Amino acid sequence: MSDAVQTRYDPHAIEARRQSAWRERDAFATPPLNDERTHIYIKPSAPFTSGNVHIGHVRSYSIGDAYARFRRACGDAVLFSFGFDAFGLPAELGAIAGGESPSEWVNRCAQHMTGQLQRLGFSFDWQRSFMSSDAVMYRWSQWLFLTLLEAGLIYRGTGNVDWCENCQTTLASIQVEAGGTCWRCHGPVRLIQLPQWYLRISAYLQENDRRLAELAASGIWDEVSLASQEIVLGRIDGVELELTEPSRPDGARLNVFTPHADALAQARFVLMSARHPDVEQWASEPAVFEQLEQLRSGGWERSAREAETIPLIDTGRVLAGPAGAPLPVLVSPLVDSRFGVTAVLGVPTRDRTDEVIAGRLGMQVAADGAGEGDTGAGADGAGAQDASLAAGARTAVRYRAFDFTISRQRSWGTPIPIVYCDGCGTVPVPREQLPVLLPLDIRPTGTGNPLAELEEFVNTTCPACGGPARRETDTLDCHFDALWLWIPACVPAHAREQSLEEMLALPDLRRWLPSERLVAGSDSGNFVFDQRIVTKALRDIGPLAFLEDGEPFAGCLFHEMVVSGGRKMSKHLGNVVDPDELVERYGADTVRLAVLYAARPQKSLNWSDSAVLHCHRFLTQVWEFSRARLEQHAAVHALAGHGAQAGQEPADEAGERAPDRDNTEHLRVKLSEWCENGVRRITQDMESLEMHSAVRNVMRLFDRIKDFDKRVRARQDAVSEANSEALVQALSVLAQVLGPFAPHMAEELWLACGRQEHAAQTPWPGVSLEVIA
Ligand SMILES: [Zn+2]
Ligand SMILES: [Zn+2]
Repeated sequence: MSDAVQTRYDPHAIEARRQSAWRERDAFATPPLNDERTHIYIKPSAPFTSGNVHIGHVRSYSIGDAYARFRRACGDAVLFSFGFDAFGLPAELGAIAGGESPSEWVNRCAQHMTGQLQRLGFSFDWQRSFMSSDAVMYRWSQWLFLTLLEAGLIYRGTGNVDWCENCQTTLASIQVEAGGTCWRCHGPVRLIQLPQWYLRISAYLQENDRRLAELAASGIWDEVSLASQEIVLGRIDGVELELTEPSRPDGARLNVFTPHADALAQARFVLMSARHPDVEQWASEPAVFEQLEQLRSGGWERSAREAETIPLIDTGRVLAGPAGAPLPVLVSPLVDSRFGVTAVLGVPTRDRTDEVIAGRLGMQVAADGAGEGDTGAGADGAGAQDASLAAGARTAVRYRAFDFTISRQRSWGTPIPIVYCDGCGTVPVPREQLPVLLPLDIRPTGTGNPLAELEEFVNTTCPACGGPARRETDTLDCHFDALWLWIPACVPAHAREQSLEEMLALPDLRRWLPSERLVAGSDSGNFVFDQRIVTKALRDIGPLAFLEDGEPFAGCLFHEMVVSGGRKMSKHLGNVVDPDELVERYGADTVRLAVLYAARPQKSLNWSDSAVLHCHRFLTQVWEFSRARLEQHAAVHALAGHGAQAGQEPADEAGERAPDRDNTEHLRVKLSEWCENGVRRITQDMESLEMHSAVRNVMRLFDRIKDFDKRVRARQDAVSEANSEALVQALSVLAQVLGPFAPHMAEELWLACGRQEHAAQTPWPGVSLEVIA
């Protein structure tokens, strides 16, 4: 040991040495299925192949990696791996900018990012990592598409879609920025009509809602992830009632919803979604229908989506309101974003937006005396007066979440396994013909869809009749790939070559699922929500029937972003922190420790160099202090005639040195208590992923160890063997609890204390060595 002693802290040498040792002993390979051990699948986010690992990734993976290392140290079998989310517009635009094909671009990015993540020492099982753009992987997307199509959960619809003229593509609502602009190019977004493939998430909204209470009760979904699921769901409680048309003999009827159960009498109009199934019946007058068609074919700007300017069609029809007064029936897309696809009562005295609409209709809201006295009433005061008026009103729930399009007019994505035949119509590609291969030599130019221009891709034969047919040239949005990206890491890479049915039957999925913990950014709410929906669908269809509650993640931690000066990091603002530079300067352990130390995961991390400097000082001190004391211990030990074997249980040699027992034994007792208390606190922190608190408790433990050392030195000119032994014990505990955060230095320190390397991870204090394997 003493030959190799380096007193100065040299993170680069230490980290290179440890990483090479980890590679050699294949430390982070997923353990084989084993009946004796708890199986823990920790799911990190799937990074876009965007080009570089940024500091947000470092934060995310430092949290997940610390947790993975902690669970391994406790003896659990841990699966910690991910796939690159390699399809989609970002890669296409990167390829255009780089003058290469998207497949070249994503492969280059993935290789570079893998190198960056390895340099940071994250303990991913790289043998299980994958690219969503590999044919063996995207056939899963195609399989999922066919499976959901058969189950009626994917359908072909014609409807309003958000369209970006610059990008020549449709956008999901999450891809439209608050100001009504495109998430990629920030150009204006218009509403147009196109045939699209839709995912019917509406079939599972109620169950996703119902399960939320269970997730909250589990205690392992943190507050940010739970809140995200509520936001995406957009549940609105209220009442619905059936209104009839007074002026016609056969009186058409319409179910209307309102969250203002206690103000039904103040309703002034009815607003209907343009996607409402009965809308054409209400907009039947030719002039009105023409307006509806115009609205649907779109062209109107996203900026016209405020209540002041949003399209509003007066159908010319009325319904008898709850108080008897006639209510005009209007069609407006305003409904969808607020209540989903439904019809609602407009209650101007209760709702700012309804007040604006009433103003546009020339209604005098203030003159409505009936409403004024009522506006202050809370839910409890849901007046008896209104309740009697609302005979037939029943409690009801609406959700803002709704079916969304999963197809894109873009070439860099999973081909949709559908062909169009003049004789047979729309024909799904049979499963045994999967994958439908994406040509790799496509060179997108940034406009249109080059896939649709590629004759050898487009022209095919119909699987049903063998006649000439044309392939679907829309591809799947990468959001659709993400619906299953959490599954394939559960099987070994070679198993993914099998048929999908064989692979899904492997016991691996049953052992690893549900994922014990998802660790992802707080912007992942939509992904997780839709993954929760598709899991329920696959449970009901069969392949995931063993997941009874249909939840892919037993626990979930959403961390906030890394910001700088309170603002999002961007090249434009010049406030980007480059992880490579930081690693180059301070080493990976410091950077990882700093992102954990600087903020609780659920809080934004406002970047400052002081956290890095503080953590670097801490690690430097740990290193220098330990090396000096361990060297001294070797000398003390040799002097006592035991040879330089540190780390052995202290024998009863203290008995030979009775004088210093009297003098310092209480200090050793205290040190051992400090270690026990520290370990207990850090363990609790780690179990609840409170990394920020865990790191502080590790730092406190080091302070205690230094304190012990100082007091002993104040009492003894030459440190006794018993005290030296106690110090080494304490340092080895420090190495154990430092392992999840600064794994390189921790393992070096552990070895320097005379301990052994373990396959996966230094065992946690108190965990028997046998279970670590
Ligand atoms: Zn755009
Ligand atoms: Zn045919």
